[in-house]
Amino acid sequence: MSDCIFCKIASGEIPSTKVYEDDQILCFKDLNPMAPVHVLFIPKEHICCADEITSENSSVVAHIFEVIPKVAKELGLENGYRVVTNCKEEAGQTVFHLHFHLLGGKKLNTEMA
Ligand code: IMP
Repeated sequence: MSDCIFCKIASGEIPSTKVYEDDQILCFKDLNPMAPVHVLFIPKEHICCADEITSENSSVVAHIFEVIPKVAKELGLENGYRVVTNCKEEAGQTVFHLHFHLLGGKKLNTEMA
């Protein structure tokens, strides 16, 4: 997707503060952190949102969830963390490339909506 900001971050065209990277996924610091630790996990391939996860592309999502605990540990989140994805406008999605927010480093608000 030529006009997708997270595709440009994945390709290195737009700089980011990388926390983890491999051939399938990238984790980088959120530009506007909502918690002391706030990073984003993205697949390098363009998937618009959670609604577009299918049996063909879901292995990258499983991979993200394998890596999250390792990164959480490296970032000092032994006491817990939250993983969130916003799907489409009504949920607050603003960047239409699938991403998972990893939040922690403080007692998080428990309101779900
Ligand atoms: P959403 O609202 O769930 O779509 O989350 C998008 C997130 O991307 C927000 O938390 C933004 O702060 C973050 N964001 C947008 N542009 C950039 C960027 O260029 N670098 C890092 N984070 C970004």
